[in-house]
Amino acid sequence: GGDFTATDESGDVCKFAKGLADKAAEAGVNFLFNTGITRLLTTGAGDSATISGVEIINAEGRHQVLHADAFVVALGSFSVPLLKPLGIDLMIYPGKGYSATYRILDPDAAPSVSLTDDACKLVVSRLGDRLRVAGTCEFNGYTRELNPTRCDILTRRMRDLFPQACDYDNPEYWSGLRPLTPSNVPYIGETKFGNLFLNTGHGTLGWTMGCGSGRAIADIVSGRKPEVDFAFTARPHRASAPLARAGKSAG
Ligand SMILES: Cc1cc2nc3c(=O)[nH]c(=O)nc-3n(C[C@H](O)[C@H](O)[C@H](O)COP(=O)(O)OP(=O)(O)OC[C@H]3O[C@@H](n4cnc5c(N)ncnc54)[C@H](O)[C@@H]3O)c2cc1C
Repeated sequence: GGDFTATDESGDVCKFAKGLADKAAEAGVNFLFNTGITRLLTTGAGDSATISGVEIINAEGRHQVLHADAFVVALGSFSVPLLKPLGIDLMIYPGKGYSATYRILDPDAAPSVSLTDDACKLVVSRLGDRLRVAGTCEFNGYTRELNPTRCDILTRRMRDLFPQACDYDNPEYWSGLRPLTPSNVPYIGETKFGNLFLNTGHGTLGWTMGCGSGRAIADIVSGRKPEVDFAFTARPHRASAPLARAGKSAG
């Protein structure tokens, strides 16, 4: 048996991200690809401490410092090492997840709606002529190395569920690091630095929460009150402790 959720949707996150980047570029956003952030530079102290610049290194190995009015840290699991030297300790740990994508051989033998296999904690999505299964959580630091045993588990389960559907001999495996917080509630909002903001720690639901989080952090950076009632992080002088959650928790 199973439950049918008519409002459930699935999609190709790579297509979505590329499409969104194109729209943003059209609107004037300048992306610096293949560029690493090495550190945040600070100025001032106490309540008046701010970020004066961000040090980056480009693909040719050249360092440069960029200046801005406001800085938003949105590096998922990697937000932790960037912020630690500034005395901001985030409870985010990388939880590695896997996906496998297969070419569909028999369209009628493959599911057309998104499925959750609760017994094995796997999610199956139809992406046109491909079928993708995703799941598992491995705690193994920041490496995205693929563990062959975990990969095999995905393919074995798919062979069991939909034996005729796909070309299981040529899987495309991928892994990613979910930026997990203990409650799966992300850090969105202010920090103790006046012009430094957080939009990170989205755990298992970064795509689902991405657009809403983006809108909320844009409001916060612009000094507006976000529409949603959420436990945004607040500056220490507005809350009792650094990074205290202001307002109600989203659960
Ligand atoms: C197998 C799997 C399945 C998932 N399925 C779903 C799903 O169905 N729905 C859903 O909503 N979510 C899902 N998620 C979760 C989702 O992928 C994450 O929540 C989301 O990717 C977090 O987005 P992010 O941009 O905050 O962090 P990330 O995706 O981790 O991106 C951080 C980026 O920062 C870059 N970066 C890191 N350090 C630096 C640096 N020093 N300088 C420059 N750049 C840097 C990284 O290269 C990376 O591109 C899934 C995750 C996995 C692993």
